[in-house]
Amino acid sequence: MDTDVIIIGGGLSGLALADHLQRLGVDYRLLEARSRFGGRVKVAKVEDGFFDLGPSWFWPGQPRIADMVSRFGLTVTEQYSKGTLSFEDEQGDVQRGLGFSSMEGSYRLKGGMNSLVTAIVAGLDPNKIQANAVVTAIHDNGHITVDLADGQSVTSRKVVLAVPPRVAATVNFQPALPAAAQGAMAAIPTWMAGHAKFVAVYDHAFWRDDGLSGDAMSRHGPLAEIHDATDANTQNGALFGFVGVPASARAGQGDAVKAAAIAQLGRLFGKQALSPKHVFYQDWAAAIETATAQDFTPPNSHPNYGLPNALANLWDGRLQMGSSEMAGQFGGFLEGALEVAENLAVDLSE
Ligand SMILES: Cc1cc2nc3c(=O)[nH]c(=O)nc-3n(C[C@H](O)[C@H](O)[C@H](O)COP(=O)(O)OP(=O)(O)OC[C@H]3O[C@@H](n4cnc5c(N)ncnc54)[C@H](O)[C@@H]3O)c2cc1C
Repeated sequence: MDTDVIIIGGGLSGLALADHLQRLGVDYRLLEARSRFGGRVKVAKVEDGFFDLGPSWFWPGQPRIADMVSRFGLTVTEQYSKGTLSFEDEQGDVQRGLGFSSMEGSYRLKGGMNSLVTAIVAGLDPNKIQANAVVTAIHDNGHITVDLADGQSVTSRKVVLAVPPRVAATVNFQPALPAAAQGAMAAIPTWMAGHAKFVAVYDHAFWRDDGLSGDAMSRHGPLAEIHDATDANTQNGALFGFVGVPASARAGQGDAVKAAAIAQLGRLFGKQALSPKHVFYQDWAAAIETATAQDFTPPNSHPNYGLPNALANLWDGRLQMGSSEMAGQFGGFLEGALEVAENLAVDLSE
């Protein structure tokens, strides 16, 4: 047996589980498909600033992320929301002062959300975590064998699928899982997987000088909701928006979305917004490690997440589900990823 526990997926849940197991003295191997760790947590770097292309926020009342932040000495900042809001109607006409700042009071991390990922990874044994390791099949013969796309295999006592459940459903399970389990995986929407983010970086946050918060709502698009994305680590300013164009309509249209988004920021925030020093576009629906075609239409509200009965005790407990979507209280969120990891660590160390 190569190890006790194979963790498939090096997003926040898989990394946090590895961190727990290491501290509990349980041997593990973590296998991550991408060339980087973090999964849905991803940042773009411009000079000394880091701009979130995945999650930006966490919230008061989320205890595990607060503990991590204090353990690693990370710096929390509040979402900038001082000043006037902007609203763009169907015709692209801009009005000021309507609505409310939907993210006021939300917390961000100086250096971007990836600073949490970097801190966890720095504490893990580099010999136990592997990037560019795409899992294709999992076999149960009383113990576990995991096959990788490059032909390697790894064996263990137990395996945790810390990947979005719909992505997990695409793995080849031998023997096949019960139809109810396979169906349950495919039925769970991956939180935010159908979304895309656009970020524009400027040499400073000029909208603040004009008394604007950077918050905007738009019925014209392509960005539906815009916020200040400035990183406290840098003098540069940034705005980000969630793209309102549906995933199937924006597929292959990245350049057109970017050009239209810059024009929109110009309408909302003035001429200076037309000349960003960098723009970034991240379409999560196009990332096969995150989304499947079922995620192209996002849920209208936050789903009621948690481990369904059909996914409990698979292969007599040798196969466990471990992404944020399995969390009963904070499912879908970063805090949910930490919640699932904490619960699994207790189970796996018994
Ligand atoms: C645009 C966007 C905005 C968001 N905003 C927020 C926010 O503000 N606040 C918040 O709390 N949450 C937010 N979220 C949700 C948050 O990102 C997730 O809850 C969290 O990152 C999930 O972590 P995870 O480890 O469970 O899953 P993931 O991050 O999806 O990690 C799964 C990992 O498995 C890997 N993988 C997949 N298939 C395989 C395979 N076959 N073999 C090996 N590895 C594989 C993937 O590459 C990935 O690294 C947002 C998400 C997105 C996309």
